[in-house]
Amino acid sequence: MWFCSPLYPFVISFLLWLNCGMLIVMSLALIYISLGTNLGDRMVNLRLAQAALPPEIQVMALSSVYETEPWGFPDQPPFLNLVLKAQTSLSAPALLATLKSIERNLGRRPTFRYGPRLIDLDILLYGSLVLDTPMLTIPHPKLAERAFVLVPMAELDPDLVHPILRKTILELLTQVGDKGVTRFA
Ligand code: AMP
Repeated sequence: MWFCSPLYPFVISFLLWLNCGMLIVMSLALIYISLGTNLGDRMVNLRLAQAALPPEIQVMALSSVYETEPWGFPDQPPFLNLVLKAQTSLSAPALLATLKSIERNLGRRPTFRYGPRLIDLDILLYGSLVLDTPMLTIPHPKLAERAFVLVPMAELDPDLVHPILRKTILELLTQVGDKGVTRFA
């Protein structure tokens, strides 16, 4: 029998080690996602995007909805924005692919940079992960500059620390100010 072999303890140790590895790989990450829209029925867009999240993204908390002045390109309708906090078993690249496919399925069409959009889903934070690749940057590179993201984040978790800047969300918001961001719903 194979379990009488002198290798048995090593085989068991290896299986336990593999199992621990699986547990680590399958652990959940705490994520913050920003939702924004300035075309069509904006409240409906926000609701449809939340409803389209797969079971691998478990929503834990939602900020209020804020009406915000356009950022980067002023000559367009105002946005509605919110931030959601969730747990996910998806890797960061898989999470990005999931969010981009929700945008496409809801009917988002490519426009120019900072232009109007039916729905925009961005990864703000993925645990304390720091990542910089051509496709994905985490924390979101504009997080610390955008009041429309910092106001809803501060509503959820003001003491959360930015993994690179080592400042809390509230400290970042105090630097930027909340001009142009009004509670909507
Ligand atoms: P957007 O215009 O917001 O839809 O983003 C355009 C591209 O930014 C996406 O297709 C991603 O490849 C890239 N990107 C880089 N970092 C992020 C991030 N943290 N969240 C979402 N998109 C990102």
